[in-house]
Formats: sequence, structure tokens, C-alpha cells
Amino acid sequence: MGEPKGVAEGVPTAVRPDPHTGDGRRPVAWLHIVAPPSWSVTPSARSWCTCGYERQALGRAAVLQLVAAHNEHRTACPLLGPTTEGRAAA
Ligand SMILES: [Zn+2]
Repeated sequence: MGEPKGVAEGVPTAVRPDPHTGDGRRPVAWLHIVAPPSWSVTPSARSWCTCGYERQALGRAAVLQLVAAHNEHRTACPLLGPTTEGRAAA
């Protein structure tokens, strides 16, 4: 008797960019946070964008600031851009 062919051909979940991309916009900005449940482990985060924007943070406070900066970048990024199209500028 040979070994059973129990090889799971499961496709590993691809690394998904920002989960808030269900609105049809192209994902160009990523945010990755590593925050272990243990408070003794320093959390870290990395935020990067295809426009060249990149930031890394180490520590809880720094991570929170990075998240805020990331969200801010999403509105200021030249690639994402604000939805001013079709609006009369003044
Ligand atoms: Zn950007």
C-alpha cells in the first residue's frame, strides 16, 4: 500500500492589498501592520505606495501615527488623487 495522496492543492491566499478596495479603485497604497497580541512585543507597521511613498513604524504610538499618515496619504497621493474630477475649481 502506498501512501495516500492527501496532497492538498489548496491555493494559498494571495497577499491582498488594502481591504478597502471594493469600490473599484485600483489598489496603489498598502498598509501592513504587525501587532502581536502580546503587549511585550513591539508592534510594527509598514506603509507604502506605488508613487514612491514609504514609511515604517516601530512601536505602538508610531504605528498609530503611520496609520493616520497612510490614510492621509490616500487622499493626498498623486496616483489615488482626490475625487475633484468634474468639479469646477472655483
Ligand atoms: Zn501614493
